[in-house]
Amino acid sequence: MKILVDRLSATPTALRFEAGSGWWQQHLPPRGDLPRELSQPFGIAISAHLMGEDLYLEGEIEGALEFECSRCLARYGHRLREAFRLVLEPAGSRIPADPEAVAALDRDGLCLGDEFETGWYRGGEIRLDSVCLEVISLALPVKPLCREDCAGLCAQCGADLNGGACGCKEARPQSPFDVLAALRGGEPKGAH
Ligand SMILES: [Zn+2]
Ligand SMILES: [Zn+2]
Repeated sequence: MKILVDRLSATPTALRFEAGSGWWQQHLPPRGDLPRELSQPFGIAISAHLMGEDLYLEGEIEGALEFECSRCLARYGHRLREAFRLVLEPAGSRIPADPEAVAALDRDGLCLGDEFETGWYRGGEIRLDSVCLEVISLALPVKPLCREDCAGLCAQCGADLNGGACGCKEARPQSPFDVLAALRGGEPKGAH
């Protein structure tokens, strides 16, 4: 996923990349709980242009990963569509304070600043793999759901309630009126 800076001009250049399971597994962040399989490869559309020496990138990443629903435990393809925007200045002879940024500038020809949207670039070739991974990681759900209104599993029998009610009686909390009625009914009769 490379951009050649010499090929860019003030007129936006449209670029398209595709990144499938091979790319994902090779670059998978070390966080162990991310899905390893994609149900749809990532398509990355980028518009790049130069303004003076500054490099402007606008991108959108689309794809789907195989997640397990946190309510019903079914595996499903979680669709992802995330836009990003970056403005990169030439690093020149400056050296980033953060050692990770120094490494990124060497490896990718670009490093991000404290705010995601700005950074520096160096040299004529920029690799976007790390940026795309970052965008994807930030867009992944903390609590994946196969659909917004997933009914989940019955707490008693474990049936998938998305397929309809399971027949278990809901344990309904007693209302205060039931409690009163029970008290009245329980009064000893003929005590007078
Ligand atoms: Zn579900
Ligand atoms: Zn049930």
